[in-house]
Amino acid sequence: MKYQLATHSDTIDWRQEAECRKHYDLLRGGGDPWFPPPGKSTEVNDKALKICFSCPVQQQCLEYALEKKELKAGIFGGKTPTERQYIFKKQQQAKGIKTKTRKKRKAKTS
Ligand code: SF4
Repeated sequence: MKYQLATHSDTIDWRQEAECRKHYDLLRGGGDPWFPPPGKSTEVNDKALKICFSCPVQQQCLEYALEKKELKAGIFGGKTPTERQYIFKKQQQAKGIKTKTRKKRKAKTS
């Protein structure tokens, strides 16, 4: 095995292969294209998305985000939060799990 974590001896850590690790230069100057400040997401995310689309572990990254319910912010696996929310919802539906709609959530909190 090429990469191993001490805590997961039989698991290759896909993050070692992440394309974004090669682009720390983009983080200089206070910006993070994977987690842009509110209101700047469209223009800044394009940089991140281009890199994600050439990433060899894009699928693992997406699966990780869905498993950890990273659905509200940032780019994971070449997908925006809206795209991940959609995929997550479809996965839940395929498993027969009902997801809460905004209407139901709102009614529950009020
Ligand atoms: S898919 Fe994008 S965010 Fe995920 S590891 Fe690859 S480059 Fe990084």
